[in-house]
Formats: sequence, structure tokens, C-alpha cells
Amino acid sequence: MTDSDQRGPRLRGVPELWDVARGVAIVLIPVIAALSVVSLQISVPTRVWLSAVAVGGLIGFLVIWRHYGILASLRQWLRSRTDGAEPERAPSTRDPIHDLSDGPGTTSDLASEITRLFQRLEERRNDVVSKLVTQEQVLESLPAPVLILDERGRVEQANAAAQRALGDVAVGREVSTVLRHPDVLEAVDAVREDETRTEVEIALMGQTMLVRVERVPRGDDQPPGAVLLLEDLTEIRRVGQMRVDFVANVSHELRTPLTTLIGFIETLRGPAKDDSDARERFLEVMDVQSRRMARLVNDLLSLSQIETKEHKPPSEIVPLAEVIEEVVTTLEIEAHRKRMRIQVEMDTELPQIVGDTDQLSQIVQNLLENAVKYGGADTTVEIAVAVDEDPPPAYPARDQVAIGLSVSDRGEGIGREHLPRLTERFYRVDTDRSRALGGTGLGLAIVKHIVSRHRGSLSVESSVGVGSTFTVHLPSTRTVM
Ligand code: ADP
Repeated sequence: MTDSDQRGPRLRGVPELWDVARGVAIVLIPVIAALSVVSLQISVPTRVWLSAVAVGGLIGFLVIWRHYGILASLRQWLRSRTDGAEPERAPSTRDPIHDLSDGPGTTSDLASEITRLFQRLEERRNDVVSKLVTQEQVLESLPAPVLILDERGRVEQANAAAQRALGDVAVGREVSTVLRHPDVLEAVDAVREDETRTEVEIALMGQTMLVRVERVPRGDDQPPGAVLLLEDLTEIRRVGQMRVDFVANVSHELRTPLTTLIGFIETLRGPAKDDSDARERFLEVMDVQSRRMARLVNDLLSLSQIETKEHKPPSEIVPLAEVIEEVVTTLEIEAHRKRMRIQVEMDTELPQIVGDTDQLSQIVQNLLENAVKYGGADTTVEIAVAVDEDPPPAYPARDQVAIGLSVSDRGEGIGREHLPRLTERFYRVDTDRSRALGGTGLGLAIVKHIVSRHRGSLSVESSVGVGSTFTVHLPSTRTVM
């Protein structure tokens, strides 16, 4: 590649002949004037006259042709840029008429400086444009809605998230028509007057939004604009409220047995000190209450352990038949007490389940415990395990064959209105009854979390006075054909 190729196409402007002729005339006028003055003193032969004019004219022509040529090249180059014609290659560090340079202070030197200045301005412009493009891309990709307002409080820019959150936000709209909230408008006014930044919390279309308003200076004499950044606090507030409710519920659950224990301890130390009958009765109640607290603490611990593991998929091959058998054995004594029978029906050719054995055991334990607790005396509780070709829509692992595990009882059943809330922590249909039966109100919440970790689903069918069936669908290792 030659040097001139690297610099880009060379521009060679051709000067206007009329300009050159005028220049030559300007050069010749002093020559002719000088000769005229000299010829007044001494006679100058015509030959000398003509030769002097010809030599002067030629020199003038060459010099002027060259200078006008440089100026014409410069004009042509500048015009090619200002007319919007893109240069064929990136601006070179050397200007296109560099080779014409005669040295400092000459026309070509001046032309070189002008082209260099122009090129530097072009580079700066390209930098600014690319920065603006990057900023625009960043703004567009932000998940939070952002509005940029001009100095008159009209929308200058609204990113994609703002369009989604606030509807169609056209450029040029007054902010008051986009966010009709007096607190927001007040904050925008405050920022445009003297505040640097401010924030307000507002309710917007059923959501809690934090609106941060920031002042954007626009040159010395211009009034400032503003940037509005919206943050959706709905989920944070909901989780915060859940935490407060949870702590209140736990305290409430612990307070009753604790108060009972403290009361009985005081009585045993005082009035019933020497009453052995009362001591036996009180110790019995204290035993029940402390066990209740222990169960509550155990359930709370299980729940928190399950939550920590919730996003880590389980990896053991679970021996489901053994797990069910073990749980049934532990609950048989309680079932016998109510003259209940526990019947297990399980397909022999079940595909394998990858899961957490302890957690799946806990699911069976909680569901069976409830069935025994809330099922009627002299009835049968049925556990059925089989492949379900048609799992409910809530079952998420659609590409894996589902195994349905259901626990049915003939008991009091549950009213339809309670069904959607059964898996909430501490939700009970009948709180006193649940407590009397030793319930903590956390059993089904634990089941729900374990099922979700296993990518399964939980469903309930129940009729008041008839009984309930709780079914868990878990993905097996077999894929759906
Ligand atoms: P609890 O410790 O109170 O049993 P759970 O979370 O296990 O807590 O169950 C929540 C509520 O759902 C229970 O208090 C009870 O009212 C109702 N429930 C659960 N299983 C059954 C069932 N098999 N039959 C009737 N009601 C049930």
C-alpha cells in the first residue's frame, strides 16, 4: 500500500482561471508602474520592457496558480465534509493537502492547520456521538423506568421500562400528564428551583413506587432539566410486611404455652407446693405445652432449612416405598388410638424419583399426620402412589413423567374458601382445634416449600363432612414421550 493510499484520496482543487488572471494582473501592476517610472528617467528598450513584463507575469502566474490551487483544494475538501459526504476512510492524522506544504507561514501551512482543526473537531464529534449512543443503550436497557425532562418539564426521553410502566409516553408530553401525582409534580418543581435531588413514595396503579427526582444542569443561563427514576417497592414492602406478620405470629404462638408454663411453675412453688395431685396434673399440662413449643421450634427450623436449600435442586435417588413404610410405622400408634387404618397402594413399576429423602419423608409425615389428626375415628386413611399421565396444570416439570402421591381421609373436610390459603404459615381453618390436636399451623407451608424445591405441585380436593385428599405430584427420572 502506498503512502497516499494510507492517507485517503488526495484532493487536488483546480483554481479558477479568472482568479489567477486577476492575481497575475495585481502582480504585474507594480512591475509595470516601476518600469514606467524608470522609463521616465532613462529610455528602456521595448525588448527589455516586454521581457520584464513576461518574466514578472510568469513568476506571478506560477506563484498565484499554486496558492489558488491550495485554496481550491482546501475549499473542495471542506465542502466534501460540510455537504455531509462521509470521508472514504477515517480521518488521517495527516491532512489531504499536506504534501503541498511549503513550510510555516505559507498558504499551504494555513490550509493544513485548518484541515487538521476540522479533523480534530470531527474526531471529537464522533466521540461525543458514540458516548451518546452508549448512554442511550444503557438507559434503554435499565430495568427501572427512567424519564428525562427538559427545562420546561416536558418529556425529552423515556426508556423502554418507562413505556411499559406508564403506558405510551410520547416525547414532548408534560410530566403532569404522564405521572399525575401532586407529590411527584411538587418534587419536580423543587428540583427545578433549588433542590439537587429529592424522592417521594407514591401509590401508582396498585403498586408502591419510589420516585427519585434529580436535577440536570443545562449550561450557565439555561433553567435545569430533571431525571425521574422509578423504583417498584411493592415486593419489598410485601416481604417486609410478611416478616412483621411472621414475627408477630411466632411470638403469639409461643406466648400462650410460655405463659402457661410460668403460671404453673409459680403455682407449684407457691400454693400447690405440697399438693401432689395438683403437681401431677400441672406437670402433665406443662409437658403438653413444652412439647408444643418444641414442635413449633422444630417446624420453624425445618422451614428455614428448606428455604435455604430451596434453589438447590436435590440429587438423591429416593427409595419412596421405604420412606412411606417408615412414616406409616411411626404414625400407626396414633392411628390405632383413633381406631383408624392406614392403607398403602403403590404401583410396583414406578419410575425413580430424584429428590431429598429426608424432605420427601417430611412431606409424607405432614400429610399423613394431618389425615390422622383431622380424619374421623374408625375410618381408613389411604395413601396412593402411581404414575399420573395427566398431572394438574400447576405441575411445572412438563417434560418429566409425574408421580402422584395422594393422602385421603374421611374426616371433617375443608370449606372451599379456605383451600387457597391452607399453605400460608400459621393459617388454620379452626385455630383452637388445630392447637388442641398439637398442630403448629406450619405443616402444609413446609410441604409447599419442599414440593417447590422438587419442581412438583400440591393440590387439595375436599368436601366438608366427607373428607380431603392432598396430592403431591413429583417429577420422575422418566421423560415424557
Ligand atoms: P396444623 O399444624 O394446624 O395441622 P397445617 O399447616 O398442617 O397446620 O394445616 C393447616 C390447616 O389446614 C389445619 O389447621 C387444618 O385446619 C387444615 N387441614 C390440614 N389438613 C387437613 C385435613 N386432612 N383435613 C381437614 N383439615 C385439614
